[in-house]
Amino acid sequence: MSSPQWRERAQHSSFKTDGFIGGRYVPLRPSERTFDTVNPATGERLATFPAGSAEDVDSAVKVARSAFEKHWAGSAPEYRKQCLLKFAALVESRAADFALLDSLEMGKPVKMALGELALAVRFLRFYAESADKVYGEVAPTDPARGLTLTLREPYGVVGAIVPWNFPMMLACMAIGPALAAGNTVVIKPSEVSPSSALLLAEVATAAGLPDGVLNVVPGLGATVGAALALHMDVDKLHFTGSTTTGRKMLEYAGQSNGKSVMLEVGGKSPQIVFREAVDIPGLAESLAASVFFNTGQVCVARSRLLVEESIADEIVSGIRAAAGVYSGGDPLDERSVCGPVASRAQLQRVTAYVDGARKSGAELALGTGAGRDGDGFFFDPVVLRRVEPQMAVVREEIFGPVLAVSTFKEDDAAVTLANSTAFGLAATAWTRDLDRALKLARRIDAGRIEIRAAAAPRASIEQYSAEPFRGSGHGVVGGMRGLEAYVRHKAVEFIHG
Ligand code: NAD
Repeated sequence: MSSPQWRERAQHSSFKTDGFIGGRYVPLRPSERTFDTVNPATGERLATFPAGSAEDVDSAVKVARSAFEKHWAGSAPEYRKQCLLKFAALVESRAADFALLDSLEMGKPVKMALGELALAVRFLRFYAESADKVYGEVAPTDPARGLTLTLREPYGVVGAIVPWNFPMMLACMAIGPALAAGNTVVIKPSEVSPSSALLLAEVATAAGLPDGVLNVVPGLGATVGAALALHMDVDKLHFTGSTTTGRKMLEYAGQSNGKSVMLEVGGKSPQIVFREAVDIPGLAESLAASVFFNTGQVCVARSRLLVEESIADEIVSGIRAAAGVYSGGDPLDERSVCGPVASRAQLQRVTAYVDGARKSGAELALGTGAGRDGDGFFFDPVVLRRVEPQMAVVREEIFGPVLAVSTFKEDDAAVTLANSTAFGLAATAWTRDLDRALKLARRIDAGRIEIRAAAAPRASIEQYSAEPFRGSGHGVVGGMRGLEAYVRHKAVEFIHG
């Protein structure tokens, strides 16, 4: 589709403000409290949603429980697999509709939203295919006594609370394995970007998933999110979002039924560049992409560059040259790589971090550190040098296109810097030295480590299993082990005389 065609479609787009519960759109309880979705590229209001309530959540959980018991958990794995494959195909066929909704609501350029959609569909397909590969175990007990099995069964109702930065991908990362394993799901999408999740549930029903298997309740975190996390009949919670909210999920679980919680939260991921990597083709472009892509709103953004001192100037000037393409453009323009940040609050947050760092002595090596004038929430890439380990821009997640550059002279110092935050989501090290690579892989505390000798694309996330370290969360995502989070183990003993 061309840019004028996207703009034409955008003019005629409409937004559902209901919940999707039990296979149909259902109006949410009227509420004095509402929230607006806003196009961050223009500042225009798109729609007004009711805040959502505990009653709305309760209706969705009841329907999900009934679907779990009657239609889904006890169904043949092959049936679930075929339903989910059809679902993935239908999502793929509506790619432009999904991309446009996310683009309008959170500012992702349509081309990038289509790329995200393709990854989300891969993820759904991978787990659809896994539905009939969940094997149990035979325990090595004394055969003279009987036989002991371990069955792997779904939990029941999974509550999924997701953020706005990859609305489709992160919703599918929760529902793909959860549904394949036989659970039913209630999703609470972010109030910034609720519409693609609603369409996802609509498409699931059109694809033949039984009513109530996938439900969506849009609303605020404090109303719908809290009610879902506190619900006594939700068996498992999948949370993706900020570290602060993630910690609340653990409290909610403790205050309710002690439900199992999977947490995928914040990061402050390091990227280490050693001298021998300086000539790798595409290095500067890759360094820029890994922090500025999606306007820096990526949980695994490599927002800390740790570079060997002797090559720091050369590397920083390479990044400056490569960063131009990440200036925010019109999300409906096919050529845009980045759009605005997702909201006014996000713009204020990112600007405040850069201001604070400059006041503490950091130096701007790229960018102005100010939002761009106009109605949209645009903020161009920033590179900060002369940062100190105690500065907030080095320790805290900014979630914007801001790179903090530190230098080191020896491997030990690089590892100490890499492991010096409260997070442990991901890390990259660029080296051609095998000995160094092997040691770094062991010494860096992160759930996903790339040791790079080339700027080639990384593997697709459904292909491997990883779990966050430290304050970045817990619970395995991806690969066959990604199913583990959604099945419980039940021992059954057959005892004979
Ligand atoms: P957020 O924590 O503000 O919101 C996430 C979700 O939680 C939203 O749906 C929100 O409505 C809900 N929520 C907020 N307060 C709540 C409450 N009190 N009770 C229940 N639900 C509540 O995060 P965000 O700003 O939407 O997303 C950005 C964050 O997400 C970043 O920190 C980023 O690192 C993180 N993230 C992590 C991963 C990962 O895989 N680790 C992936 C993407 C994003």
